[in-house]
Amino acid sequence: MNEQTTAPWGNLVGIRPVKRVVKMMNDGLCDEKIETVLKQDFAVSSEKTALAMKIAKIELEVMKTIPKNAVSLYIDIPFCPSKCVYCSFASMPVSEMKDFIEPYLNALYLELDKIKTIVTDLNLEIVSIYIGGGTPTSILSLELDNLLYKITRTFDLSGLREFTIEAGRPDTITESKLEVMQKYGVDRISINPQSMNDKTLEMIGRKHTVEQVYKAFELAKQYDFKCINMDVIAGLPKETVSEFAHTIDAVTDLEPENITVHTMSIKRAAKLNQDRDFAGLPEDFDVAEMISYAHGKLQNTGYEPYYLYRQKNILGDLENTGFSRRNTPGIYNICMMEEIRSVLSAGVGAVTKLVRGDRIERIFNVKDVREYLKRATEMRERKNYIYEFLNLEVQ
Ligand code: SF4
Repeated sequence: MNEQTTAPWGNLVGIRPVKRVVKMMNDGLCDEKIETVLKQDFAVSSEKTALAMKIAKIELEVMKTIPKNAVSLYIDIPFCPSKCVYCSFASMPVSEMKDFIEPYLNALYLELDKIKTIVTDLNLEIVSIYIGGGTPTSILSLELDNLLYKITRTFDLSGLREFTIEAGRPDTITESKLEVMQKYGVDRISINPQSMNDKTLEMIGRKHTVEQVYKAFELAKQYDFKCINMDVIAGLPKETVSEFAHTIDAVTDLEPENITVHTMSIKRAAKLNQDRDFAGLPEDFDVAEMISYAHGKLQNTGYEPYYLYRQKNILGDLENTGFSRRNTPGIYNICMMEEIRSVLSAGVGAVTKLVRGDRIERIFNVKDVREYLKRATEMRERKNYIYEFLNLEVQ
């Protein structure tokens, strides 16, 4: 049987295979030795070994440029136009949560104030901001304006290198929201089709069309964003290899700076978490062919892989890979995945990840909007642990 369809990553467990490669490179091991370790000790396929080596080298170049006191800021807006069948995030349909948006933003602002105090006290430098969720652009442009005003007025952003909003759903992207994002210096946005096949979009509960993807992209191109990312998923229900190849061809034709190729993973909390045949999920060998097609096409059209992660219950035991062109690798994605710097996070379901050398600890926020509102003070107080962890108690 083809090695790709069995266990492409062999017995290399964990969601961050590249982190191990980066460590070996930092420890001074030569390429040949690292490849031998991957292939012989962990039974990683030749293809995935080459992929991990390539990404590790690109990441190391980016990491060299990140200051020691750098941190990323993550902000969660947990609302979406509708719920996708594979979603396991804390996100709620915006239509059901209208009354909660304003109180949510107000509680979020207090949490941002707390983070600001910590950043100042510990002399940290924010190098990247990532607003995700959810779909941050599902809130009104006025609400988005208030949020971005708050962020840009609260923090010293003189060291900021990347400001991302995961606009995500094309049906939430409007001229006024793009204007607001541009006004506050957002320079990286995502417009995520997931599939460029209307029948699939309908099946997975996206409630937008391929036409809307094209329109949102065309609109966004009229603004001066440094980077547009587009996410796609291999292994969506009832999609064939040729339908997925069509998605890849259509997205590469648009030439966004970043394309992130995910492999479907079946999360416990997702609606799709049921019998694989019933859900219409493709076979592992088809998913492997999809990923292989995507990687071939992207690398032949000027994209290079710059970060990678794996998930539990991922189809074909494969991976998710971010590609970039014109030297635009996502800094937040690399810092997050390689765990080289802390990420201070605010909002529902947000996880603050503290990194000190090889030690990593997490502070979790609650995953429900109502609960977050009730326990907002507690969420802020939990962040006092950051002082303790970084061993720099304020006087
Ligand atoms: S857009 Fe993302 S966060 Fe929103 S429902 Fe779909 S998968 Fe979940």
